[in-house]
Amino acid sequence: MENYILFWICIIGLCFGSFFNVVILRSLSNESIVFPGSKCPNCEHKLFWWHNIPVLSYIILRGKCYFCKEKISIQYPVIELATMFLFAISFIKFGITWKTLFVILWISGFLIMTVTDLKEKLVDCNIAIALGVSGILYNFLQTGTDGIIASILGMLAGVVIMELVARLGYLFAGTRALGEADTYVAGALGGMFGIQSIIWVLLYGLIVSMIFIVPMFLYNQYKNNNKLTCILSVLFILTVLIYYKLAANYWIAAVLIITGISLAGSILNNIKREENRNYLPYVPALALGALYFIFFSVNF
Ligand SMILES: [Zn+2]
Repeated sequence: MENYILFWICIIGLCFGSFFNVVILRSLSNESIVFPGSKCPNCEHKLFWWHNIPVLSYIILRGKCYFCKEKISIQYPVIELATMFLFAISFIKFGITWKTLFVILWISGFLIMTVTDLKEKLVDCNIAIALGVSGILYNFLQTGTDGIIASILGMLAGVVIMELVARLGYLFAGTRALGEADTYVAGALGGMFGIQSIIWVLLYGLIVSMIFIVPMFLYNQYKNNNKLTCILSVLFILTVLIYYKLAANYWIAAVLIITGISLAGSILNNIKREENRNYLPYVPALALGALYFIFFSVNF
């Protein structure tokens, strides 16, 4: 019985993934989701029904448009498979419960916002608002009116914390450090996980972002020829390793503090100089932090 349901959840996941591809494409090009019928984004030829089967069509067509032979983005089958996988593990983890339904809904929202943020740095804040509201409903079903209060307080905490972080940017760079969508998403996370857990979810998001941002940052410094920052970063990482793995003595601690402060100074200096500052796509980090909390925390 379980396997039978799992099979159908996978099929439904594939179909929803296919729908999310349309939502992502249309929300980036500001078209209606329902009209016009699906067509090739390159030659605009209307597609046959068998060009729309999740994953299978991509394989049958060998990744090319049937009419103009333009390459079809690998994004389509990847999102279909990712949706299927996420729906399936939600069901395996939480079984036939309300929780599974909410988790699937939230994961869907995260997925769409993550892809649009990565591709175009565009996030539909209405999705975040919908997720936040669904969070209130979820917490009400779990723990009644206490849940509603925890959910609303969580929303406020998420918004305030993220907005403070974003505005820290004014202190040293004269602009926001993060986009406004990140504040909406943090509020939504507060609504879902409540005041008792929002700090942890944001912390997981921060850890995820560091895993991606630190190497990216170093690469940019290297590319822009900021040799001093590169050298200081390597020195800093080395001293941290020496301090924790080999010798935690007074002198190494002193070197660690000196390289740390010089590195921070050199980074701030670079940020001030950069002309075209772009917001980092931070929604993916928040989404991954939330996924980690959903599947690995005992508190959910
Ligand atoms: Zn075409």
